[in-house]
Amino acid sequence: MHADLSRRKFIQTGIGLFFVLNAPESPYIITVNGRIPVSEMGTTLIHEHFLVDFIGADKINYSRWNRQEVVTKVLPYLLEAKKHGVKTMFDCTPAFLGRDVFLLKMLAKESGLQIVTNTGYYGAADNKYLPKSAFTETAEQIAGRWIKEFKKGIENTTVKPGFIKISVNPENLSALHQKIVRAAAITHLQTGLTICSHTGIAIPAFEEINLLKKMNVHPSAFVWTHAQNEQDIKLHVKAATSGAWISLDGIGWGNIEKYADTINNLASAGMLNKILISHDAGWYKPGEKQGGSFKGYTNIFEELIPLLNKKGFTDNDIQQLLIKNPAEAFAVRVRKL
Ligand SMILES: [Zn+2]
Repeated sequence: MHADLSRRKFIQTGIGLFFVLNAPESPYIITVNGRIPVSEMGTTLIHEHFLVDFIGADKINYSRWNRQEVVTKVLPYLLEAKKHGVKTMFDCTPAFLGRDVFLLKMLAKESGLQIVTNTGYYGAADNKYLPKSAFTETAEQIAGRWIKEFKKGIENTTVKPGFIKISVNPENLSALHQKIVRAAAITHLQTGLTICSHTGIAIPAFEEINLLKKMNVHPSAFVWTHAQNEQDIKLHVKAATSGAWISLDGIGWGNIEKYADTINNLASAGMLNKILISHDAGWYKPGEKQGGSFKGYTNIFEELIPLLNKKGFTDNDIQQLLIKNPAEAFAVRVRKL
């Protein structure tokens, strides 16, 4: 009897342990300070910048800015966003345009915000921000570099990217930009990182979605970045219906009424759960006196949300846009067709 009980107890404990070891991992994102469950993301701005240097891939280097000076400039704007409830911010500045993970760590520490950085290359602006190797390497070789950042960390740090940021010209995809999209697809399939592509109009957006599909990547792993540049808003609905994320992300630059209408159009088509919003604001500009002019990260809270409320959007809808959708879009996992 006694032995039987303890045996049963042992079996029960064993079963419990089995479930703990095999429990599905809860969804997470990767910040510059490591993984956090998506439930801790809170209000999230998915496309912002802290520093951008347009000098070009051949000339950029870390001596072009003083990190402490950048922190002094940027921090008040981060604290202002925080006052509006922001907990997490995605830095969309890619490598060769001023991505600086040492700076991002400092900003995260000083502000208390959760900051996410990226891997990938920026092809737009006619390839001015591509490293030389991008022109000659294969998609597999380029992806290999990005996957290495995901596995080993960026530039000998422990900081890992939380998404892939690429960019293409606003026209039919060139062979070079197709290669960059293919590199993003390979990287996604190996890492589960979401692909944000600076795209703008619909022509390259649908080419990207189709290319990703050919490579077995589901459109839900793709964020159509700067989708507000497409004037035919039916095409937003079409892309969203395929599963892609529609990123309306220039809200720091005005046109708030138009953003509200664009969001309304998607919401009326039942696609509120496919919209991402952000400011594309900032940023410290190396080479300009004290980093030059700076756009804050507050238009969404001070202008857009009041306008959406007037149009009948509820607090739940706003949470969908700023909390639920970012969590769903950026939770790290492979999305195959
Ligand atoms: Zn941007």
